[in-house]
Amino acid sequence: MRIDVFTIFPDMVAGFAGQSLLGRAAAKGLLDVRVHDLREHTTDVHRTVDDTPFGGGAGMVLMPEPIFTAVEAAEPPRPLFLLGPGGRTLDQAMARELAGTEGFSLLCGRYEGVDDRVRTELCDGELSVGDYVLNGGEVAAMVVLEAVGRLVPGVMGNAASAGEESFSDGLLEYPQYTKPAEFRGLPVPDVLRSGDHGRVARWRRAQALRRTLRDRPDLIEARGGLTPEEQALVDELAPDEPIP
Ligand code: SAH
Repeated sequence: MRIDVFTIFPDMVAGFAGQSLLGRAAAKGLLDVRVHDLREHTTDVHRTVDDTPFGGGAGMVLMPEPIFTAVEAAEPPRPLFLLGPGGRTLDQAMARELAGTEGFSLLCGRYEGVDDRVRTELCDGELSVGDYVLNGGEVAAMVVLEAVGRLVPGVMGNAASAGEESFSDGLLEYPQYTKPAEFRGLPVPDVLRSGDHGRVARWRRAQALRRTLRDRPDLIEARGGLTPEEQALVDELAPDEPIP
């Protein structure tokens, strides 16, 4: 899978993409992240990428010329998404959708934003990472790279882990524990040490349901409530058992 990123801070994104899971995925040939420096496509000695906004106002706006030239030179995989707070908000379903494609591209804005002709004439869509404003699209690009990259087949060591974690079936994940079995007087739930895989699976499912009901009832609502079987599973746990 190829992901191209256009930015005026290429080192930020390339450094991030070269580390850890994403770095290993690149080394294995599973992910091809190409970072393009918009300043390389400027024509003046100062390598200017921005100018003041028509109509006045604070700050600077990225000019269309270097961005169009950079994208035309790279012929990046489409769709090309402009990162911006006005876009469709990234969620796990969209990350999964993108992970199933051959590739896509991301354009990072900076300052007050990007000349709107870039959005309307060059980009195929707009993508946001949440309802807040960042200083630039680079961190947003890293969020997209990480959320999508880990779902690309073969990238995560244990293929099962992606299927069981938060949002994979519209629920938050069950609580996880590791050694020691008792830490500062806090024991790990007995069932997890029982060796009974069936009981462990039922307990985890019940905990995931209870946790989601408590912390993210909107997710339960979005999946149309609990099935009778899920309700039974939740009720089966001692009602006074605390939700970790
Ligand atoms: N003036 C703009 C914000 C510009 S922030 C506005 O009010 O909408 C500068 C750049 O940061 C944007 O061009 C965009 O690329 C990036 N950015 C900021 N917030 C973002 C978000 N929530 N998701 C994705 N990118 C974002």
